[in-house]
Amino acid sequence: MIIAIDGPAASGKGTLAKKLAAHYGLRHLDTGLLYRAVALAVITAGHKPSDRDRAIAAAKTIDPAKFDETQLKRYDVGEGSSVVSAIPEVRAALFNLQQEFAAAPPGAVLDGRDIGTVICPNAEVKIFVTASPEVRAQRRTNELRGRGETADEKAVLADIIARDERDRSRSTAPLAQAKDAHLLDTSTLGIEAAFQAALALVEKARR
Ligand code: C5P
Repeated sequence: MIIAIDGPAASGKGTLAKKLAAHYGLRHLDTGLLYRAVALAVITAGHKPSDRDRAIAAAKTIDPAKFDETQLKRYDVGEGSSVVSAIPEVRAALFNLQQEFAAAPPGAVLDGRDIGTVICPNAEVKIFVTASPEVRAQRRTNELRGRGETADEKAVLADIIARDERDRSRSTAPLAQAKDAHLLDTSTLGIEAAFQAALALVEKARR
């Protein structure tokens, strides 16, 4: 079984994807980490994420086995990832890795922005997770502070709105709900309630 989870930044899709994977004994890929890894490589080498050639070269050489999640989850890396992800050649370079991950047995849960639309259009279950920008900004602020980064909620909200706009308006594989995806709004749901709602959607789709 392949479960495709898409949604905007800090919608809760990563937490849901992890929990669904554990529940069904499937592998999990947070595809945002791939774009973050490209941004981190470019930033670490002293360049801007908007440097196309360097971003494309980085996308061709990233190695998920060497990922350092603490670095990848940095705020500046999140912002940079949405810049490199708009470059079609970067997306093309990361395409096979994602499809191969999804195809390997016993199946997988992938979360991102274009899983249900581009990477796994034939996934058995597709969920588009969303939440209001204010709720997402609050969650992201708490997450960043929990990791010891300073975060101003108003600035985080402005960045989240800008990032969503960039992700939705890019020409290649924009953030979008697949026609056959179930919408799950987690604005008023805690983690457990959101998980139960997602489980119910998966079970319904399997029947
Ligand atoms: O999910 P996360 O916030 O870590 O993703 C970081 C960025 O990577 C997103 O803002 C988006 O621009 C990009 N991304 C993407 N396609 C995916 C996953 C992430 O374009 N499948």
